[in-house]
Amino acid sequence: GDALAVSARVAPLGSRLVLLLVEDLTEARRIEAVRRDFVANVSHELKTPVGALSLLSEAVMDASEDPEAVTRFAGRMQIEATRLTNLVQELIDLSRVQNDDPLEDSEPVRVDELVAEAIDRCRHQAGTKQITMAAGGTADLHVWGSRGQLAAALGNLVENAVNYSPARTRVGIAARHITAPGGDLIEIAVTDQGIGISEKDRERVFERFYRVDPARSRATGGTGLGLAIVKHVAASHGGEVTVWSAEGQGSTFTLRLPEAGAVRDRDRGRTLME
Ligand code: ADP
Repeated sequence: GDALAVSARVAPLGSRLVLLLVEDLTEARRIEAVRRDFVANVSHELKTPVGALSLLSEAVMDASEDPEAVTRFAGRMQIEATRLTNLVQELIDLSRVQNDDPLEDSEPVRVDELVAEAIDRCRHQAGTKQITMAAGGTADLHVWGSRGQLAAALGNLVENAVNYSPARTRVGIAARHITAPGGDLIEIAVTDQGIGISEKDRERVFERFYRVDPARSRATGGTGLGLAIVKHVAASHGGEVTVWSAEGQGSTFTLRLPEAGAVRDRDRGRTLME
């Protein structure tokens, strides 16, 4: 029935229909290419630490007479193993946020708890760089969504802020309620005084495995997947993530998410109308 209705509507448009079909094919081909690139990227990213581990284990065997060298190589093996663990964990996170319907386990989530958790996760790294972290405006705010996914998203933003900042700088997290006609929002902004991101790179940092400086990202245990996860979480919650940055001065990543009360009111309205 639907197909007939559609073809009746498009039949007079002959060439438009062909164009639509061509666009469909192009889109299907694009999706296929993205999938193939992703698999190739994952394979490459896995091969790097595995290759290093293999070389290092050979080095350990060759150096069995030299305990100091063995300790040194073992230390580097530990770094590579951590890198591998991070990558596998982020791949799992990404596949979860790509497949899960966040509405399934959604609930009102306290913003102050999300922020405290994100800060906790980075406390060690921030401490070694003497980076101070400060949060404000988080009291009494609730977002609607999956607690685990939201924690992963905010955690990634704060982790990046710390990783891409020099020592003795500040990372600030500011939250506020925004009244909006389409439903109220909660805005959470993570600001750093770090290296910043050029305009050209700003558009691409949310792509899976895109890194401005791959060596720097790897050195801090980065996987290139963090911001892709953030973007997916924001989108699946009906929100968005945006970035502002000035090179050499710092960046602000802003998450905008539906406010818990707004979602409840909207759903209540829907129930009343049914
Ligand atoms: P990674 O694991 O490499 O940090 P992400 O997806 O989290 O991967 O980020 C992608 C890239 O975006 C990073 O490699 C880095 O080049 C850049 N980036 C992310 N956050 C920041 C930030 N706060 N300041 C400067 N650059 C950033």
